Amino acid sequence: MRPSAGRQFIRGLGKIVGRENVEHEPEDMSCYRFDGIARGEAPEAVVHPADAGEVARIVQLAAQAGRPLIPRGAGTGLSGGATTAAGGLIVNFDRMDRIRSISREDMAAVVEPGVINRDLKQAAAGENLFYPPDPSSTRVCTLGGNVAENAGGPYGTKYGVTGDFVLGLEAVTADGELLVTGGRNRRDVAGYDLTSLLVGSEGTLAVVTAITVRLLPQPAARQVALYVFDSVEAAGKTVAEMNLRSLQAAAVEIMDHITVRCVESYLPGSLPSGAQAVLLVELHGERESLEPQARRVEEACAVAGGRLARLAADEEEAERIWDARRAISPSLGRMAPTKIGEDISVPPSRVGEMIARIHEIAAGNDLEIAVFGHAGDGNLHPNILTDRRDGSRMARAETAVAGIFAAALELGGTLSGEHGIGSTKSTYMRDGVQDKALAVMRDIKRTLDPDGILNPGKIFPPGPA
Ligand SMILES: Cc1cc2nc3c(=O)[nH]c(=O)nc-3n(C[C@H](O)[C@H](O)[C@H](O)COP(=O)(O)OP(=O)(O)OC[C@H]3O[C@@H](n4cnc5c(N)ncnc54)[C@H](O)[C@@H]3O)c2cc1C
Repeated sequence: MRPSAGRQFIRGLGKIVGRENVEHEPEDMSCYRFDGIARGEAPEAVVHPADAGEVARIVQLAAQAGRPLIPRGAGTGLSGGATTAAGGLIVNFDRMDRIRSISREDMAAVVEPGVINRDLKQAAAGENLFYPPDPSSTRVCTLGGNVAENAGGPYGTKYGVTGDFVLGLEAVTADGELLVTGGRNRRDVAGYDLTSLLVGSEGTLAVVTAITVRLLPQPAARQVALYVFDSVEAAGKTVAEMNLRSLQAAAVEIMDHITVRCVESYLPGSLPSGAQAVLLVELHGERESLEPQARRVEEACAVAGGRLARLAADEEEAERIWDARRAISPSLGRMAPTKIGEDISVPPSRVGEMIARIHEIAAGNDLEIAVFGHAGDGNLHPNILTDRRDGSRMARAETAVAGIFAAALELGGTLSGEHGIGSTKSTYMRDGVQDKALAVMRDIKRTLDPDGILNPGKIFPPGPA
Protein backbone atom coordinates (compact mmCIF):
# COMPACT_ATOMS: atom_id res chain seq x y z
CA MET A 1 0.00 0.00 0.00
CA ARG A 2 1.29 3.50 -0.88
CA PRO A 3 1.78 5.76 2.16
CA SER A 4 -0.65 8.72 2.39
CA ALA A 5 0.57 12.23 1.54
CA GLY A 6 0.66 12.94 5.28
CA ARG A 7 2.83 9.90 5.99
CA GLN A 8 5.15 10.73 3.11
CA PHE A 9 5.56 14.22 4.47
CA ILE A 10 6.38 12.95 7.98
CA ARG A 11 8.87 10.44 6.51
CA GLY A 12 10.47 13.22 4.48
CA LEU A 13 10.92 15.26 7.66
CA GLY A 14 12.40 12.23 9.43
CA LYS A 15 14.96 11.85 6.64
CA ILE A 16 16.09 15.44 7.21
CA VAL A 17 16.29 15.62 11.01
CA GLY A 18 16.05 12.00 12.16
CA ARG A 19 12.75 10.35 13.15
CA GLU A 20 13.33 11.11 16.82
CA ASN A 21 13.15 14.82 16.03
CA VAL A 22 9.72 14.74 14.43
CA GLU A 23 6.56 14.75 16.56
CA HIS A 24 3.23 13.91 14.95
CA GLU A 25 1.15 11.87 17.40
CA PRO A 26 -2.14 13.75 17.93
CA GLU A 27 -1.76 13.72 21.74
CA ASP A 28 1.64 15.44 21.41
CA MET A 29 0.23 18.17 19.18
CA SER A 30 -2.26 19.71 21.59
CA CYS A 31 0.23 21.85 23.55
CA TYR A 32 1.25 23.49 20.27
CA ARG A 33 -2.28 24.87 19.86
CA PHE A 34 -1.47 27.67 22.30
CA ASP A 35 0.90 30.54 22.75
CA GLY A 36 0.78 33.00 25.69
CA ILE A 37 -2.68 34.28 24.71
CA ALA A 38 -4.31 32.53 21.76
CA ARG A 39 -5.70 29.11 20.99
CA GLY A 40 -5.33 27.74 17.48
CA GLU A 41 -5.56 24.32 15.82
CA ALA A 42 -3.26 21.36 16.30
CA PRO A 43 -0.42 21.26 13.74
CA GLU A 44 0.10 18.19 11.55
CA ALA A 45 3.65 17.80 12.86
CA VAL A 46 6.40 19.51 14.82
CA VAL A 47 10.00 19.29 13.66
CA HIS A 48 13.15 20.07 15.67
CA PRO A 49 16.04 20.97 13.32
CA ALA A 50 19.68 21.12 14.43
CA ASP A 51 21.07 23.66 11.96
CA ALA A 52 20.33 26.05 9.10
CA GLY A 53 20.94 23.34 6.47
CA GLU A 54 18.17 21.23 7.98
CA VAL A 55 15.89 24.27 8.20
CA ALA A 56 16.46 24.97 4.48
CA ARG A 57 15.54 21.38 3.54
CA ILE A 58 12.47 21.51 5.81
CA VAL A 59 11.29 24.72 4.13
CA GLN A 60 11.82 23.14 0.67
CA LEU A 61 9.84 20.05 1.69
CA ALA A 62 7.00 22.12 3.18
CA ALA A 63 6.87 24.24 0.01
CA GLN A 64 6.72 21.14 -2.25
CA ALA A 65 4.04 19.57 -0.07
CA GLY A 66 2.08 22.84 0.15
CA ARG A 67 2.19 22.86 3.96
CA PRO A 68 2.09 26.10 5.98
CA LEU A 69 5.24 26.44 8.09
CA ILE A 70 5.11 28.16 11.48
CA PRO A 71 8.39 28.96 13.28
CA ARG A 72 8.13 28.63 17.07
CA GLY A 73 10.39 29.62 19.94
CA ALA A 74 9.12 29.21 23.50
CA GLY A 75 5.50 29.93 22.61
CA THR A 76 5.23 32.87 25.03
CA GLY A 77 4.07 35.27 22.30
CA LEU A 78 1.02 37.36 23.10
CA SER A 79 -0.55 37.75 19.66
CA GLY A 80 -1.09 34.17 18.44
CA GLY A 81 2.02 34.28 16.22
CA ALA A 82 3.34 30.79 16.94
CA THR A 83 -0.03 29.06 16.60
CA THR A 84 -1.72 27.74 13.47
CA ALA A 85 -5.30 28.14 12.30
CA ALA A 86 -4.98 25.47 9.59
CA GLY A 87 -2.68 22.61 10.53
CA GLY A 88 0.72 22.72 8.91
CA LEU A 89 4.20 22.25 10.26
CA ILE A 90 5.64 23.89 13.37
CA VAL A 91 9.42 24.33 13.37
CA ASN A 92 10.63 24.28 16.97
CA PHE A 93 14.09 25.73 17.62
CA ASP A 94 14.81 24.06 20.94
CA ARG A 95 17.81 22.18 19.47
CA MET A 96 19.29 25.34 17.95
CA ASP A 97 20.13 26.92 21.30
CA ARG A 98 23.87 27.60 21.17
CA ILE A 99 25.54 30.89 21.89
CA ARG A 100 28.13 30.55 19.12
CA SER A 101 30.42 33.38 20.15
CA ILE A 102 30.78 36.46 22.28
CA SER A 103 33.38 38.92 21.05
CA ARG A 104 34.62 41.43 23.61
CA GLU A 105 36.64 43.21 20.94
CA ASP A 106 33.58 43.80 18.75
CA MET A 107 31.11 43.84 21.66
CA ALA A 108 28.88 41.46 19.74
CA ALA A 109 27.44 37.96 20.07
CA VAL A 110 26.26 35.40 17.54
CA VAL A 111 23.45 33.15 18.74
CA GLU A 112 21.11 30.52 17.41
CA PRO A 113 17.39 31.34 17.47
CA GLY A 114 16.54 28.91 20.31
CA VAL A 115 18.81 30.68 22.84
CA ILE A 116 16.82 31.87 25.87
CA ASN A 117 16.94 35.64 26.40
CA ARG A 118 18.18 35.33 29.99
CA ASP A 119 20.94 32.89 29.00
CA LEU A 120 22.36 35.45 26.57
CA LYS A 121 22.13 38.16 29.22
CA GLN A 122 23.98 35.98 31.72
CA ALA A 123 26.63 34.89 29.23
CA ALA A 124 27.21 38.53 28.23
CA ALA A 125 27.40 39.56 31.91
CA GLY A 126 30.09 36.91 32.37
CA GLU A 127 32.21 38.95 29.92
CA ASN A 128 31.24 42.20 31.70
CA LEU A 129 28.95 42.99 28.77
CA PHE A 130 25.27 43.86 28.70
CA TYR A 131 22.44 42.72 26.43
CA PRO A 132 19.66 45.16 27.39
CA PRO A 133 16.44 43.87 25.73
CA ASP A 134 14.56 42.38 28.67
CA PRO A 135 11.06 41.11 27.98
CA SER A 136 9.42 40.11 31.27
CA SER A 137 9.37 36.58 29.84
CA THR A 138 13.22 36.64 29.83
CA ARG A 139 13.51 33.32 31.66
CA VAL A 140 11.84 31.39 28.84
CA CYS A 141 11.45 33.39 25.63
CA THR A 142 13.94 32.84 22.80
CA LEU A 143 16.04 35.22 20.75
CA GLY A 144 14.29 33.96 17.58
CA GLY A 145 10.93 34.94 19.05
CA ASN A 146 12.38 38.26 20.29
CA VAL A 147 13.66 39.10 16.81
CA ALA A 148 10.42 38.04 15.12
CA GLU A 149 8.33 40.22 17.50
CA ASN A 150 10.93 42.98 17.93
CA ALA A 151 10.40 42.40 21.64
CA GLY A 152 10.89 45.17 24.16
CA GLY A 153 10.95 45.39 27.92
CA PRO A 154 11.50 47.86 30.75
CA TYR A 155 15.05 48.82 29.68
CA GLY A 156 13.71 49.86 26.27
CA THR A 157 13.28 53.34 27.76
CA LYS A 158 17.01 53.99 27.75
CA TYR A 159 18.48 51.38 25.45
CA GLY A 160 15.82 50.53 22.87
CA VAL A 161 14.19 47.25 21.84
CA THR A 162 15.49 44.04 20.24
CA GLY A 163 15.76 45.59 16.77
CA ASP A 164 18.10 48.26 18.13
CA PHE A 165 20.58 45.48 18.97
CA VAL A 166 20.36 43.21 15.93
CA LEU A 167 23.35 43.76 13.64
CA GLY A 168 22.81 40.86 11.29
CA LEU A 169 20.71 37.81 10.56
CA GLU A 170 20.96 34.48 8.79
CA ALA A 171 17.56 33.24 7.64
CA VAL A 172 15.92 30.77 5.28
CA THR A 173 13.48 32.28 2.80
CA ALA A 174 10.37 30.54 1.45
CA ASP A 175 12.33 29.13 -1.54
CA GLY A 176 14.57 27.26 0.90
CA GLU A 177 17.61 29.47 0.27
CA LEU A 178 19.87 30.99 2.88
CA LEU A 179 19.68 34.80 3.19
CA VAL A 180 22.45 36.60 5.09
CA THR A 181 21.89 40.24 6.12
CA GLY A 182 24.22 42.64 7.92
CA GLY A 183 27.05 41.29 10.05
CA ARG A 184 29.20 42.62 12.87
CA ASN A 185 29.48 46.11 11.45
CA ARG A 186 28.06 48.91 13.56
CA ARG A 187 27.56 50.90 10.41
CA ASP A 188 26.30 49.28 7.25
CA VAL A 189 24.42 51.16 4.55
CA ALA A 190 25.12 48.80 1.68
CA GLY A 191 21.66 48.80 0.12
CA TYR A 192 18.29 48.27 1.77
CA ASP A 193 18.28 47.46 5.47
CA LEU A 194 17.10 43.85 5.16
CA THR A 195 18.00 43.12 8.79
CA SER A 196 15.43 45.67 9.95
CA LEU A 197 12.91 44.30 7.46
CA LEU A 198 13.13 40.83 9.02
CA VAL A 199 13.06 42.13 12.60
CA GLY A 200 9.42 42.21 13.69
CA SER A 201 8.24 40.24 10.64
CA GLU A 202 6.66 37.59 12.91
CA GLY A 203 7.92 34.59 10.96
CA THR A 204 6.05 35.68 7.82
CA LEU A 205 9.05 36.61 5.62
CA ALA A 206 11.82 34.17 6.55
CA VAL A 207 12.87 31.67 9.19
CA VAL A 208 15.71 33.05 11.31
CA THR A 209 18.59 30.63 11.88
CA ALA A 210 21.28 32.85 13.43
CA ILE A 211 21.35 36.30 15.01
CA THR A 212 24.24 38.72 15.55
CA VAL A 213 23.56 41.21 18.33
CA ARG A 214 25.48 44.18 19.59
CA LEU A 215 26.39 44.34 23.28
CA LEU A 216 27.12 47.23 25.63
CA PRO A 217 29.37 47.61 28.63
CA GLN A 218 27.63 46.61 31.87
CA PRO A 219 26.16 49.67 33.60
CA ALA A 220 28.49 50.67 36.45
CA ALA A 221 25.69 50.95 39.04
CA ARG A 222 21.93 51.23 39.34
CA GLN A 223 19.37 52.76 41.63
CA VAL A 224 15.76 51.63 41.93
CA ALA A 225 12.94 53.67 43.47
CA LEU A 226 9.15 53.70 43.70
CA TYR A 227 7.09 56.90 43.45
CA VAL A 228 3.37 57.23 44.27
CA PHE A 229 0.74 59.46 42.74
CA ASP A 230 -2.86 60.43 43.40
CA SER A 231 -3.85 59.85 39.77
CA VAL A 232 -2.62 58.13 36.61
CA GLU A 233 -2.60 61.52 34.91
CA ALA A 234 -0.06 62.78 37.47
CA ALA A 235 2.12 59.70 36.97
CA GLY A 236 1.85 60.18 33.20
CA LYS A 237 2.78 63.85 33.50
CA THR A 238 5.98 62.81 35.31
CA VAL A 239 7.11 60.88 32.22
CA ALA A 240 6.82 64.06 30.14
CA GLU A 241 8.47 66.10 32.91
CA MET A 242 11.44 63.73 32.93
CA ASN A 243 11.76 64.09 29.16
CA LEU A 244 11.54 67.89 29.43
CA ARG A 245 14.42 67.76 31.91
CA SER A 246 16.45 65.49 29.57
CA LEU A 247 16.46 62.84 32.27
CA GLN A 248 17.23 59.44 30.84
CA ALA A 249 16.07 56.69 33.20
CA ALA A 250 16.88 53.09 32.26
CA ALA A 251 13.31 52.04 33.05
CA VAL A 252 10.10 53.88 33.94
CA GLU A 253 7.36 51.37 34.68
CA ILE A 254 3.81 52.41 35.52
CA MET A 255 1.09 50.56 37.47
CA ASP A 256 -2.45 51.86 37.93
CA HIS A 257 -4.52 51.42 41.12
CA ILE A 258 -6.05 48.12 39.98
CA THR A 259 -2.63 46.66 39.24
CA VAL A 260 -1.33 47.92 42.61
CA ARG A 261 -4.28 46.30 44.40
CA CYS A 262 -3.77 42.96 42.62
CA VAL A 263 0.00 42.87 43.26
CA GLU A 264 -0.53 43.90 46.89
CA SER A 265 -2.92 41.02 47.49
CA TYR A 266 -0.48 38.59 45.81
CA LEU A 267 2.72 39.92 47.40
CA PRO A 268 1.64 41.82 50.54
CA GLY A 269 3.82 44.79 51.47
CA SER A 270 5.45 44.96 48.04
CA LEU A 271 3.76 48.20 46.91
CA PRO A 272 2.31 51.27 48.69
CA SER A 273 -1.26 50.08 49.24
CA GLY A 274 -4.05 52.40 48.18
CA ALA A 275 -1.85 54.26 45.66
CA GLN A 276 -3.76 55.47 42.61
CA ALA A 277 -0.65 55.05 40.48
CA VAL A 278 2.96 54.02 40.97
CA LEU A 279 6.11 54.61 38.94
CA LEU A 280 9.07 52.28 39.29
CA VAL A 281 12.17 54.13 38.12
CA GLU A 282 15.58 52.56 37.58
CA LEU A 283 18.62 54.76 36.92
CA HIS A 284 21.96 53.62 35.50
CA GLY A 285 25.33 55.32 35.64
CA GLU A 286 28.48 55.81 37.66
CA ARG A 287 27.62 55.43 41.34
CA GLU A 288 28.28 59.08 42.15
CA SER A 289 25.94 60.22 39.34
CA LEU A 290 22.95 58.32 40.70
CA GLU A 291 22.07 60.53 43.64
CA PRO A 292 21.92 63.78 41.64
CA GLN A 293 19.91 61.96 38.94
CA ALA A 294 17.52 60.62 41.58
CA ARG A 295 17.03 64.12 43.02
CA ARG A 296 16.03 65.36 39.56
CA VAL A 297 13.56 62.47 39.16
CA GLU A 298 12.05 63.42 42.52
CA GLU A 299 11.70 67.03 41.35
CA ALA A 300 9.96 65.88 38.16
CA CYS A 301 7.58 63.76 40.26
CA ALA A 302 6.92 66.63 42.68
CA VAL A 303 5.93 68.96 39.81
CA ALA A 304 3.28 66.38 38.90
CA GLY A 305 2.20 65.93 42.55
CA GLY A 306 4.00 62.64 43.22
CA ARG A 307 6.37 61.63 46.00
CA LEU A 308 9.08 59.11 46.72
CA ALA A 309 7.68 56.01 48.42
CA ARG A 310 10.69 53.70 48.51
CA LEU A 311 14.36 53.95 47.58
CA ALA A 312 16.31 50.70 47.37
CA ALA A 313 19.31 50.85 49.68
CA ASP A 314 21.01 47.86 48.10
CA GLU A 315 20.70 45.20 45.38
CA GLU A 316 18.47 43.01 47.54
CA GLU A 317 15.94 45.80 48.03
CA ALA A 318 16.16 46.73 44.34
CA GLU A 319 15.27 43.14 43.44
CA ARG A 320 12.37 43.19 45.94
CA ILE A 321 10.94 46.25 44.19
CA TRP A 322 11.30 44.53 40.81
CA ASP A 323 9.64 41.41 42.28
CA ALA A 324 6.48 43.52 42.61
CA ARG A 325 6.68 44.40 38.90
CA ARG A 326 7.30 40.74 37.99
CA ALA A 327 4.32 39.71 40.10
CA ILE A 328 1.86 41.65 37.91
CA SER A 329 1.13 38.85 35.46
CA PRO A 330 0.55 36.07 38.02
CA SER A 331 -1.36 38.41 40.35
CA LEU A 332 -3.77 39.50 37.61
CA GLY A 333 -4.19 35.87 36.63
CA ARG A 334 -5.69 35.20 40.08
CA MET A 335 -8.22 38.04 39.91
CA ALA A 336 -10.44 36.69 37.13
CA PRO A 337 -10.85 33.41 35.24
CA THR A 338 -9.86 35.11 31.97
CA LYS A 339 -7.38 37.89 31.38
CA ILE A 340 -7.16 39.58 27.99
CA GLY A 341 -3.70 41.18 27.86
CA GLU A 342 -3.42 43.95 25.30
CA ASP A 343 -0.50 46.02 24.12
CA ILE A 344 -0.74 49.52 22.72
CA SER A 345 1.72 52.35 22.42
CA VAL A 346 1.22 56.13 22.56
CA PRO A 347 3.65 59.05 22.51
CA PRO A 348 5.15 59.28 26.04
CA SER A 349 3.39 62.62 26.70
CA ARG A 350 -0.03 60.91 26.30
CA VAL A 351 0.48 58.07 28.82
CA GLY A 352 -1.70 59.53 31.62
CA GLU A 353 -4.47 60.50 29.21
CA MET A 354 -4.42 57.06 27.60
CA ILE A 355 -4.76 55.24 30.93
CA ALA A 356 -7.58 57.58 31.97
CA ARG A 357 -9.33 56.78 28.65
CA ILE A 358 -8.92 53.06 29.31
CA HIS A 359 -10.51 53.47 32.75
CA GLU A 360 -13.46 55.32 31.12
CA ILE A 361 -13.82 52.49 28.59
CA ALA A 362 -13.78 49.99 31.49
CA ALA A 363 -16.49 51.89 33.38
CA GLY A 364 -18.58 52.26 30.20
CA ASN A 365 -18.50 48.51 29.66
CA ASP A 366 -18.89 47.54 33.32
CA LEU A 367 -15.46 45.87 33.37
CA GLU A 368 -12.26 46.04 35.35
CA ILE A 369 -9.17 46.82 33.29
CA ALA A 370 -5.78 46.88 34.98
CA VAL A 371 -3.17 48.99 33.19
CA PHE A 372 0.59 48.78 33.53
CA GLY A 373 3.54 49.03 31.19
CA HIS A 374 6.70 50.67 30.01
CA ALA A 375 5.59 54.27 30.60
CA GLY A 376 8.95 55.74 29.61
CA ASP A 377 8.30 54.41 26.09
CA GLY A 378 4.53 55.02 26.11
CA ASN A 379 3.98 51.27 25.79
CA LEU A 380 0.97 50.20 27.89
CA HIS A 381 -0.61 46.83 28.68
CA PRO A 382 -4.32 47.12 29.46
CA ASN A 383 -5.41 43.77 30.95
CA ILE A 384 -9.13 43.13 30.83
CA LEU A 385 -10.31 40.94 33.71
CA THR A 386 -13.15 38.82 32.42
CA ASP A 387 -14.54 35.29 32.22
CA ARG A 388 -14.61 33.24 29.02
CA ARG A 389 -17.68 31.32 30.30
CA ASP A 390 -19.71 34.53 30.57
CA GLY A 391 -20.88 35.46 27.05
CA SER A 392 -22.11 38.94 27.94
CA ARG A 393 -18.91 39.86 29.82
CA MET A 394 -16.79 38.57 26.92
CA ALA A 395 -18.83 40.60 24.41
CA ARG A 396 -18.25 43.72 26.55
CA ALA A 397 -14.56 42.85 26.71
CA GLU A 398 -14.41 42.69 22.88
CA THR A 399 -16.10 46.11 22.69
CA ALA A 400 -13.57 47.43 25.19
CA VAL A 401 -10.64 46.08 23.14
CA ALA A 402 -11.94 47.87 20.03
CA GLY A 403 -12.42 51.04 22.10
CA ILE A 404 -8.88 50.86 23.47
CA PHE A 405 -7.36 50.53 19.98
CA ALA A 406 -9.52 53.41 18.69
CA ALA A 407 -8.47 55.62 21.64
CA ALA A 408 -4.79 54.78 21.16
CA LEU A 409 -4.96 55.65 17.45
CA GLU A 410 -6.81 58.88 18.27
CA LEU A 411 -3.97 59.89 20.61
CA GLY A 412 -1.41 59.33 17.86
CA GLY A 413 -0.54 55.84 19.11
CA THR A 414 -0.25 52.44 17.49
CA LEU A 415 -1.81 48.95 17.72
CA SER A 416 1.21 47.25 19.25
CA GLY A 417 4.36 48.39 20.98
CA GLU A 418 6.02 45.00 21.40
CA HIS A 419 3.71 41.96 21.20
CA GLY A 420 3.14 42.15 17.45
CA ILE A 421 -0.05 41.75 15.42
CA GLY A 422 -0.13 37.98 14.88
CA SER A 423 -3.61 36.55 14.45
CA THR A 424 -5.26 38.32 17.37
CA LYS A 425 -4.96 41.89 16.05
CA SER A 426 -4.88 41.42 12.29
CA THR A 427 -8.48 42.58 11.88
CA TYR A 428 -7.48 46.03 13.20
CA MET A 429 -4.59 46.54 10.75
CA ARG A 430 -6.69 48.54 8.28
CA ASP A 431 -7.45 51.03 11.07
CA GLY A 432 -3.92 51.17 12.44
CA VAL A 433 -1.74 51.28 9.32
CA GLN A 434 -2.00 53.62 6.33
CA ASP A 435 -3.49 51.95 3.19
CA LYS A 436 -0.36 52.50 1.11
CA ALA A 437 1.87 51.19 3.91
CA LEU A 438 -0.28 48.04 4.17
CA ALA A 439 -0.12 47.59 0.36
CA VAL A 440 3.72 47.87 0.46
CA MET A 441 3.80 45.28 3.26
CA ARG A 442 1.68 42.93 1.13
CA ASP A 443 4.01 43.44 -1.85
CA ILE A 444 7.02 42.57 0.30
CA LYS A 445 5.25 39.45 1.57
CA ARG A 446 4.37 38.37 -2.00
CA THR A 447 7.96 38.93 -3.17
CA LEU A 448 9.58 36.91 -0.40
CA ASP A 449 6.87 34.29 0.02
CA PRO A 450 4.82 34.11 -3.22
CA ASP A 451 2.94 30.94 -2.20
CA GLY A 452 2.20 32.23 1.30
CA ILE A 453 3.61 29.24 3.17
CA LEU A 454 5.41 31.18 5.94
CA ASN A 455 3.17 31.69 8.96
CA PRO A 456 -0.04 32.38 7.01
CA GLY A 457 -2.95 34.22 8.65
CA LYS A 458 -0.69 36.56 10.62
CA ILE A 459 -0.37 40.35 10.45
CA PHE A 460 -2.57 40.91 7.35
CA PRO A 461 -6.30 41.49 7.82
CA PRO A 462 -8.51 38.71 6.50
CA GLY A 463 -10.48 39.37 3.32
CA PRO A 464 -9.51 40.94 0.00
CA ALA A 465 -6.27 42.93 -0.17
C1 LIG B 1 4.54 36.69 31.23
C2 LIG B 1 4.93 37.27 29.89
C3 LIG B 1 5.61 38.47 29.86
C4 LIG B 1 5.96 39.04 28.64
N1 LIG B 1 6.64 40.23 28.65
C5 LIG B 1 7.01 40.79 27.48
C6 LIG B 1 7.73 42.03 27.46
O1 LIG B 1 8.04 42.62 28.50
N2 LIG B 1 8.07 42.52 26.26
C7 LIG B 1 7.76 41.89 25.09
O2 LIG B 1 8.11 42.39 24.02
N3 LIG B 1 7.07 40.73 25.09
C8 LIG B 1 6.71 40.16 26.23
N4 LIG B 1 6.01 38.98 26.23
C9 LIG B 1 5.67 38.34 24.94
C10 LIG B 1 6.68 37.29 24.43
O3 LIG B 1 7.41 36.74 25.50
C11 LIG B 1 7.62 37.91 23.41
O4 LIG B 1 6.90 38.28 22.24
C12 LIG B 1 8.76 36.97 22.96
O5 LIG B 1 9.59 37.67 22.06
C13 LIG B 1 8.27 35.70 22.29
O6 LIG B 1 9.36 34.79 22.25
P1 LIG B 1 9.08 33.22 22.08
O7 LIG B 1 10.39 32.55 21.99
O8 LIG B 1 8.16 32.75 23.12
O9 LIG B 1 8.38 33.22 20.65
P2 LIG B 1 7.07 32.45 20.17
O10 LIG B 1 5.90 32.87 20.98
O11 LIG B 1 7.34 31.01 20.04
O12 LIG B 1 6.92 33.08 18.71
C14 LIG B 1 6.64 34.44 18.55
C15 LIG B 1 6.71 34.79 17.05
O13 LIG B 1 8.04 34.63 16.61
C16 LIG B 1 8.07 33.78 15.46
N5 LIG B 1 9.35 33.07 15.52
C17 LIG B 1 9.85 32.35 16.56
N6 LIG B 1 11.07 31.88 16.24
C18 LIG B 1 11.34 32.29 14.99
C19 LIG B 1 12.43 32.12 14.08
N7 LIG B 1 13.51 31.42 14.42
N8 LIG B 1 12.34 32.67 12.85
C20 LIG B 1 11.27 33.40 12.49
N9 LIG B 1 10.21 33.59 13.29
C21 LIG B 1 10.25 33.06 14.52
C22 LIG B 1 6.83 32.90 15.60
O14 LIG B 1 6.41 32.39 14.36
C23 LIG B 1 5.84 33.90 16.18
O15 LIG B 1 5.28 34.66 15.16
C24 LIG B 1 5.63 38.38 27.43
C25 LIG B 1 4.95 37.17 27.47
C26 LIG B 1 4.61 36.61 28.68
C27 LIG B 1 3.89 35.30 28.68
